[in-house]
Amino acid sequence: MSAVATLAASIRDLRKDYVLSGETVHALRGVSFDVPEGDYISIMGPSGSGKSTLLNLLGCLDRPTAGSYFLGGEDVARMNDDQLSETRATRIGFVFQSFNLLPALTVVENIEMPLYYSGGISASARERCIELARLVGLGQRLDHRPAQLSGGQQQRVAIARSLVNNPRFMLADEPTGNLDSATTEEILDLLGRLNGEGRTIILVTHETEVAARTARTIMLRDGIVQFDERRTAP
Ligand code: ADP
Repeated sequence: MSAVATLAASIRDLRKDYVLSGETVHALRGVSFDVPEGDYISIMGPSGSGKSTLLNLLGCLDRPTAGSYFLGGEDVARMNDDQLSETRATRIGFVFQSFNLLPALTVVENIEMPLYYSGGISASARERCIELARLVGLGQRLDHRPAQLSGGQQQRVAIARSLVNNPRFMLADEPTGNLDSATTEEILDLLGRLNGEGRTIILVTHETEVAARTARTIMLRDGIVQFDERRTAP
């Protein structure tokens, strides 16, 4: 086993202030941690502790007020807007609590969505999307629309969509928050498999059973890390 793990990401003294009608809210007050390649992290904490703020920064949806965020060696805090969107589109897979599928599109078309932005779908890209649908167990549902699928199936479509650009880094915001416990297990099995293939996953959750399936839990409280507990090696 190598003693030096490659880092997927590294954040140092990350701070985020919001100014709201003249008042400053310190949403993150100096958060630091390293994310080794292949890690599987759950972020927990009470409402208002800074989880969404942290996930937005990790997802390059926003810039920190201070501190650094290195993603694969590049400082995200110094990127311009174009570089941020390019990073989001090509290097990060996003999964959301509410799936965010387009109701008028089929399973395959939803999976293809991220490719529309990078101009057209080639035959080989379509083949790849079908392959992804199979990977998440929806090979028999290619032409179904979201309304014809269960919640768990919809989340599987969303996960397949997040994999279109083959990101090594995945962020999930309460990915099982809208699912019953059996379906939650199914989605966690899928995420576990993707992590097993070497993808780095960071998810936000309120549920201790979900967190227990990850390798490490970072607990936020009032914008700082209350504890950072690792259960298994990345
Ligand atoms: P959590 O996701 O843990 O509930 P958030 O990151 O959403 O926490 O919020 C952390 C703090 O930052 C809260 O006090 C919240 O009210 C504040 N906050 C979050 N987003 C904004 C915003 N856009 N403008 C002003 N304050 C915000």
